[in-house]
Amino acid sequence: MSDAGLGEEEVAFRDSVRAFVDRRIVPNATRWDLEERYPRELFQEAAALGWLGIGFPEEVGGSGGGSVLYAILCAELARGSAAVALGLYVHTALAASAILHLGSAEQKARHLPEALAGKRIGCWAYAEPGAGADIACVRTRARRTGEHYVIDGAKLYITNSPFADFMVVVAQTDPARGLKGMSIFVVDRDTPGVRVSAPFRKLGMGASEMAEIVFEGVRVPAGNRLGTEHLGFIEALQVLTLGRVASAGFGVGLGRAALGEALRYASTRMQGDAPITRHQFVRFTLADMATRIEAAWRLALHAARLIEAGGDYDCAASMAKLFATETCSHVCERALHLCGAQGYMRESAAQRFYRDCKVLEIGEGTSEIQRETIFRHLSRQAGKWV
Ligand SMILES: Cc1cc2nc3c(=O)[nH]c(=O)nc-3n(C[C@H](O)[C@H](O)[C@H](O)COP(=O)(O)OP(=O)(O)OC[C@H]3O[C@@H](n4cnc5c(N)ncnc54)[C@H](O)[C@@H]3O)c2cc1C
Repeated sequence: MSDAGLGEEEVAFRDSVRAFVDRRIVPNATRWDLEERYPRELFQEAAALGWLGIGFPEEVGGSGGGSVLYAILCAELARGSAAVALGLYVHTALAASAILHLGSAEQKARHLPEALAGKRIGCWAYAEPGAGADIACVRTRARRTGEHYVIDGAKLYITNSPFADFMVVVAQTDPARGLKGMSIFVVDRDTPGVRVSAPFRKLGMGASEMAEIVFEGVRVPAGNRLGTEHLGFIEALQVLTLGRVASAGFGVGLGRAALGEALRYASTRMQGDAPITRHQFVRFTLADMATRIEAAWRLALHAARLIEAGGDYDCAASMAKLFATETCSHVCERALHLCGAQGYMRESAAQRFYRDCKVLEIGEGTSEIQRETIFRHLSRQAGKWV
């Protein structure tokens, strides 16, 4: 991987994550994938290294740092296992981050120290049977009754939910107001009326666990609401800035892993007395994969730096997410192709990468949603773009 645009401290951070990933994740990733179980002990291991606390202030148990370190972390973790990266991401950048940015001092003190120590794990419950790419379609309902809300509804495809201790839940509080009628709640897993299904089986991301959560008459104190009543979801969309940059980081990291595997195979796979890299097709395919990944990384880094600088990062983040995740799918497909039948076997890393990559184009706003965002910016800048 190139050092493109990284300062000394960022390189040192990357190297420390890389060493951990090579030692702790790479050798186990295929087994975790086949077992379809999240290695939960990694939450506390990552916490001990300060990684769960990136982007969080020290007074709530955080370790500082910002979007760039987070992008580096995501890329390095995903190089080892995209599924592991996904579980840590949902816990930190969605569930805990919503509490940091929208919560009161009391809510932060109640939840964040344990969350950032990896002792209580969170999930982010937005998607529903009828709400996915279109965020206005949430139907889970939270009705106010005095000092409580009563939540009814269902959340689908929720990562970490099979073992999460707390859930950050998006619900309608005023259906007539659409997006401006949605609030966010922290719900403890053991609250009466919360039911989590058996874990779902998926095409890829085997080691990450997801399920459906059903809420039936779930009574939570009004003090569990995060942010302004009715506006919580809109507020969350404005402050949860890491999603697209993290996804871009995942795409870069997973793409690098696939490139590394293809390069290893092609350099050692002998046909006659020469490796298959003697074929121009193989060399050029590898060169194109590396070039695209490098471009994706620079887009990701650019978006991360814009976020840190407080600039308008919206279009850059969508470009980074779109390009990195589609590049990742392309690169993983090419890697499997180059690895031939050996790559197609169930225990090979190449087939895992191929299965893991697709979801990156779906989560955190599908590619189509990113293109809509980019076009919105283009149309606002008509005539000024070049
Ligand atoms: C592995 C995995 C983990 C996940 N983890 C979580 C989680 O932790 N929390 C959570 O809340 N959700 C999670 N999800 C769900 C995720 O949020 C949704 O998959 C995502 O929002 C897309 O919604 P959908 O799958 O219902 O697709 P749909 O909304 O049904 O979209 C299907 C297709 O139609 C296209 N489409 C839809 N609307 C438009 C439009 N307006 N313009 C153009 N094209 C459009 C989409 O781009 C897509 O290609 C997870 C999903 C997966 C697969």
